[in-house]
Amino acid sequence: VKIAAVPVYLTASYDETTLGKNGFLGAVGTDGIIRVTRTERSIYPPPPPTLLKRPDFLTGNGSALLEGEEFFRDKRSRYVGWDIVQGYPLIGLVGLDKQEAMAPYWANRAIDVRYATLATAALAVFTLIAMALSMQLAWRKYKMESAQASYRMATESGNEGFYIAHPIRNANRVIVDFQIVDSNHRGAEMLRERRDELIGKRVSLLYEQAYPERLMAMLYQAMDKGFYEEEIEVPGKSPLNIQWAYIKIVRTDSDLAVTLRDISDTKAHVAELERRGNEDVLTGLPNRHWVTTYLPRAIEHAAQSNTMLALLFIDLDGFKKVNDTAGHAAGDEVLRNAARRIKESVRPHDQVVRLGGDEFLVILEQITHKMDAAHVAERVVHAFQQSFKTSEGVHSVGTSIGISVFPDDGTDAETLLHNGDIAMYSVKTSGKGNYSFYDQKFYDVLHARLQKESELRHAIGHDQFIMYYQPRVDISTGTTSSMEALVRWMHPEKGLLQPLEFIPLAEETGLILGLGELVIDKVCAQIALWAQSGQDLVPVSINVTSRQFNEVDVAKILSAALVRYQIAPKLVEVEITESSMMGDSPEISLALTAIRTMGVKLLVDDFGTGYSSLSQLHRLEFDMLKVDRAFTAELGKTERGNVFFKAIITMAHALGMRVIAEGVENNDQIKILKSLLCDEIQGFYISKPLPPSANQPILPKWFFPTIA
Ligand code: C2E
Ligand code: CA
Ligand code: CA
Repeated sequence: VKIAAVPVYLTASYDETTLGKNGFLGAVGTDGIIRVTRTERSIYPPPPPTLLKRPDFLTGNGSALLEGEEFFRDKRSRYVGWDIVQGYPLIGLVGLDKQEAMAPYWANRAIDVRYATLATAALAVFTLIAMALSMQLAWRKYKMESAQASYRMATESGNEGFYIAHPIRNANRVIVDFQIVDSNHRGAEMLRERRDELIGKRVSLLYEQAYPERLMAMLYQAMDKGFYEEEIEVPGKSPLNIQWAYIKIVRTDSDLAVTLRDISDTKAHVAELERRGNEDVLTGLPNRHWVTTYLPRAIEHAAQSNTMLALLFIDLDGFKKVNDTAGHAAGDEVLRNAARRIKESVRPHDQVVRLGGDEFLVILEQITHKMDAAHVAERVVHAFQQSFKTSEGVHSVGTSIGISVFPDDGTDAETLLHNGDIAMYSVKTSGKGNYSFYDQKFYDVLHARLQKESELRHAIGHDQFIMYYQPRVDISTGTTSSMEALVRWMHPEKGLLQPLEFIPLAEETGLILGLGELVIDKVCAQIALWAQSGQDLVPVSINVTSRQFNEVDVAKILSAALVRYQIAPKLVEVEITESSMMGDSPEISLALTAIRTMGVKLLVDDFGTGYSSLSQLHRLEFDMLKVDRAFTAELGKTERGNVFFKAIITMAHALGMRVIAEGVENNDQIKILKSLLCDEIQGFYISKPLPPSANQPILPKWFFPTIA
């Protein structure tokens, strides 16, 4: 049987990734005739062939450097290996371009560790190609050696250790050990050896006392699978002088090429990042993120050892005030000090965490009784009794602590944290500066509150509110000078609710912002309605809280409502409580000035209950002062009560403000107020707050009681 094959077919496997751009494939008959040649670009036949002539020495197998000038049309020198194709009268040739093959060698001066990986891969691939083309050992050995050499040199100045390990087999061809047959200097240095002493050593004897089990296992696996890589923490007994290594083993033919990279620095860096991710920068304490990994383990441990674990959920009292009045730098100082005080109040092995803001957590492990937690909480509360000195002054900051205990109050981290939070919250709402254990009833209270909050939100969205109006009377003329708008909630089930039942909640939750806007709109709509009747109107005063001033543009909302309902600004007044002006917030000052500039009068509400300074009152230019009804109630009872009221009136008048007495409930109070030169009065004795009627409920002058 004769078989005819197109010679070109023999070179179809040319692959640039392995042979390079200028590699060479060829076949020469045993008769000496060149049958086919191939570089990447040119194939023969058709002519001309790349190989100019058949080398004389082309018998059997072997390899040689063929000079370009003499042998190749493109004048490029090549390392060429050849072999007789068994069973055929053909000699196969494979050539690698000298320049290309040696490029890594020359490039090693600008060493790049990545190259080393490529070289390893190329090494493996060359080997495979060579085998595929049934080349024999000489060629492989040559290539191996030159690749090893170039690899070794390439890695020499880098951080990688490089070794060639040769398997040692017993009589049954079973691998029993490996021998180091090559290494670069860095590799030897990593093993605390000199290269010439290292070469020839058996791997099993590398460790002075122990057998390198793990390393041997890796080598076996690489021998088996062809490849192995891992990041390893170097064990103490190892002669390696690095902490962390990245090891990569590639089987090349019968040997193993091992590379070791020192990744200790990278590992240290990662560890540092991890530590930072778990640490609160300000206080140096572990942070919330840390808790998520630590706490579940601590709980598990407590469950196994049958002990209790307690969480102290700590929130600082009055911290916001420090931030607001003394600035963030002072706030930070207080937080750092607070962290230290908490740390000093607990046992050395208890964990103190900053959860964020002014919230801290203490994890008490290995406790046997709930009272242990109570004692620690007491110490923490006590530690905060002394005020904090900062560069910005002295601040008193307390703590409210909620305690939850494993297993009583929860068996997982999330529940325990949540219940600790609830317990803390209950302390906050019942006086602060104390601690409390979690109790189911706290949960019920909180639940009811959340329920109410969602009802209130719904009520604002669906306008379940109505405004009542309470007149204010000029004490000298007996005419109505203004009316105060007071909100009521028409609850679909509970009936009419007074503001005290929902305004505080609205303030805490921020719902006051929406409610406040609604109130402004309703009042202006009502004034517009009354105006339609053509009667003379008195202004209506609207209560606005500090939160509204701080978080929305009250002046803008107000002026928009005035425009919407076509109302003159003089028909509206704004009441702001004395306590909400404390703190000297520039936002509030600006908003108040803007409102006054619009022509809307400003009233200080509940005066006498806050601590506003004279200068504050003066600077902010209020038109009127409403003295809190607690002071009205004192009138006629004690001499001091009268004197106090008198002092307020004198001061207000000196500052150009009119004075209104709130909560007037009897004629005696009116008499005294008149004698003290109070300007206006308001109270149940004059009129209770009333729902709006068709006309503005201005009191007839004659209704006003006689003043002696
Ligand atoms: P306030 O601004 O001091 O309002 C006066 C409160 O005193 C009203 O209670 C009124 O009914 C009550 N009062 C009037 N005269 C007398 C009296 O002779 N004796 C007694 N014992 N009380 C009298 P109300 O309507 O329950 O309002 C309570 C608080 O709710 C108000 O105190 C005000 O701070 C707040 N509030 C009411 N409506 C609004 C509103 O629309 N917006 C805002 N932000 N707060 C409001
Ligand atoms: Ca008021
Ligand atoms: Ca008041």
